[in-house]
Amino acid sequence: MPIYHYESIDGEKGCDYCKKSFQTTQSINDAKLDTCPQCGSKIRRIICAPALGHSKTDLHYRAKRAGFKCMKKVQKGEYETIY
Ligand SMILES: [Zn+2]
Repeated sequence: MPIYHYESIDGEKGCDYCKKSFQTTQSINDAKLDTCPQCGSKIRRIICAPALGHSKTDLHYRAKRAGFKCMKKVQKGEYETIY
């Protein structure tokens, strides 16, 4: 099941839950969330995908990149890696 990260679009209006960003597990078929389940503020989805090592022998690089790579949609078709 993919993990989705969401964050409040308007950080000032969000609650503690969505102000920073939160993670939720959803099936691919689930509709994406538009509002925070806690306070109803508008939220947007940050796309996260398992990071893939570029080289099988570069263990240090792979360790550093272990886990997830998260991207924020900057504009249509353009994503910014945030961590
Ligand atoms: Zn909230």
